[in-house]
Amino acid sequence: MFYPDSIANLIAALQKLPGVGPKTAQRLAFFILTLPRDEVVQMARALVNAKDKTHYCRICGNFTDDEQCVICTDQRRDPSLLCVVQDARDVLALERMREFRGRYHVLGGAISPIDGIGPEQLRIRELLERLQDGQIQEVILATNPTVEGEATALYVARLVKPLGIRVTRLAHGLPVGGDLEYADEITLARALEGRREF
Ligand SMILES: [Zn+2]
Repeated sequence: MFYPDSIANLIAALQKLPGVGPKTAQRLAFFILTLPRDEVVQMARALVNAKDKTHYCRICGNFTDDEQCVICTDQRRDPSLLCVVQDARDVLALERMREFRGRYHVLGGAISPIDGIGPEQLRIRELLERLQDGQIQEVILATNPTVEGEATALYVARLVKPLGIRVTRLAHGLPVGGDLEYADEITLARALEGRREF
């Protein structure tokens, strides 16, 4: 292509985004060039700022700009309910349905021997530590409905049940093999409502 380096670099950068191919990257690049300079600066700052400021909550592993996330610090949350998810993005998906009033624990993935991910790579030890204070009465396993997600749920259930804590799993109805974060709110709400004993 006969772009000047500046545009070629921008297109190359945009193409790193998921789902953005060469054509879309080109379209976005030319769109950005039509924007007022201050809007482009704002956009660039937002990218760097998000990268610099966002980290994981010390307690649950959710995204936050502070030590603890807004959910962990929210006193109106039900301290007896804990929902275990694979990814911080799953917290956002579950929060969108505005139904769940407990707190979360993000594992940071799922057990997957093929990818070299064992229980020790996940935040399972941190989960067990959180269960020590006796406040949590139910652990809802909301890992993805995939082979890895099911295996992880089973593994966690085996550790949590002996502690005398109720363990439940989201009901089926979620698209099998899919990611929780792509499920719509109604499906998620139903899966939560219909959760069953593990
Ligand atoms: Zn948190």
